[in-house]
Amino acid sequence: MYLHPEFEKLTRSEIEVLQLERLKKTVNRCMNTEFYRKRFAENNITPDDIRSLSDLYKIPFTTKQDLRESYPFKMSTVPLSQVVRLHSSSGTTGTPTVILHTQKDLDEWANAVARCLYMVGLRPGDIFQNSSGYGMFTGGLGFQYGAERLGMLTVPAAAGNTKRQIKFITDFGTTALHAIPSYAGRLYEVMEEMGIDPRRDTRLHTLIIGAEPHSEEQRRRIEKMLGVKAYNSFGMSEMCGPGVAFECQEQNGLHIWEDYYIVEIVNPDTLEPVKDGEIGELVLTTINREAMPLLRYRTRDLTRILPGSCPCGRHHKRLDRMKGRSDDMMILKGVNIFPIQIETILMQFPELGNDYLITLTNEEANDLMTVEVELKEFSDDYHRLQALTKEITRQLKDEILITPIVRLVSKGSLPKQEGKAIRVKDLRKTLI
Ligand code: ADP
Ligand code: ZN
Repeated sequence: MYLHPEFEKLTRSEIEVLQLERLKKTVNRCMNTEFYRKRFAENNITPDDIRSLSDLYKIPFTTKQDLRESYPFKMSTVPLSQVVRLHSSSGTTGTPTVILHTQKDLDEWANAVARCLYMVGLRPGDIFQNSSGYGMFTGGLGFQYGAERLGMLTVPAAAGNTKRQIKFITDFGTTALHAIPSYAGRLYEVMEEMGIDPRRDTRLHTLIIGAEPHSEEQRRRIEKMLGVKAYNSFGMSEMCGPGVAFECQEQNGLHIWEDYYIVEIVNPDTLEPVKDGEIGELVLTTINREAMPLLRYRTRDLTRILPGSCPCGRHHKRLDRMKGRSDDMMILKGVNIFPIQIETILMQFPELGNDYLITLTNEEANDLMTVEVELKEFSDDYHRLQALTKEITRQLKDEILITPIVRLVSKGSLPKQEGKAIRVKDLRKTLI
């Protein structure tokens, strides 16, 4: 059974006492790195200036760029001989970043993931299959150790080979599956092709979906298709990986574990805190990490803290479903648009499949958006398709205020991606 379940039930005041104690320890530990020593000196602060939680604002932010510049080991607060694992981000947008873990860090990470899985009702006796890539991607090993810590039989199927994935689900009687949301849709399509009805032919009852933005509508689709409850899981490698925030059985916001993280929401432009309940950039401070704590890390993810208390009785704050990253935002004709807004509309049409692609182009000074979306079933009823296209266009325009070009394409014709789905292709040329 997993360790420290008592932290899950802490009251607000107990959480705050623990946070302050852990924050002070963390700040002191950070002074082992030249990076934070310099940062503190430049801002004329010392660890003694952190006397209450409200003193947090005195500490400058840490950014992804800081991590890049510290690549690979400069942010370690312990000698490398105490580091037992590193994870690295893909590095598709520049120098990769590295996150270091001591054995205790890995243990605490496993505890956090186990706590999440327990929260959604999973127990020893469940059979947990993980369709994430193993290796540097933290969704693999992160869920592996968490599920083992909880005491479930684990199936580290890893990514790819969907037919084999499905065979494991049916042969082993998998009851819980971790999959990124775009892959959950794909799994269902292949099950259909194989003549497998997930309700009749599998024991699946729980899906853990996360790692990429998805809409409430997409979650409901996944639940309906596979006959499961699907829970939103949020994490990122800088914060260990999965296990940062997770939905409880209420499915209304993701509890963020405040014995591990201090959460702030700031305006991404002014970096000032937003009002309670307003959307802004999520900023996290790790307070339960040894090798590489991060102070006020700017995640670039946009969300808000849900007001009010959760009927489940847990007092850890709840984050709203992520709206996306600040860099996912498209600006067209001066309008700010997130892919998730488009998905929310598309997923309401039962005629449409799960895959879509947004392409941005420009002709002279005119920005154009094309939305290609797969049909669920083949149809050559031209009039019906035309009416459908018109209705989708109308509803998208209501939501995003510009008129996109909508193209209905046949099932399976959009490129299939391994890993996180790419929803937007920006082909706009910079105009001089
Ligand atoms: P990478 O930075 O290469 O994508 P990570 O696995 O660390 O690698 O990705 C973390 C990011 O994935 C988060 O910062 C967030 O943008 C996104 N993400 C993770 N979980 C969710 C979720 N449940 N909903 C929306 N976005 C998520
Ligand atoms: Zn709850």
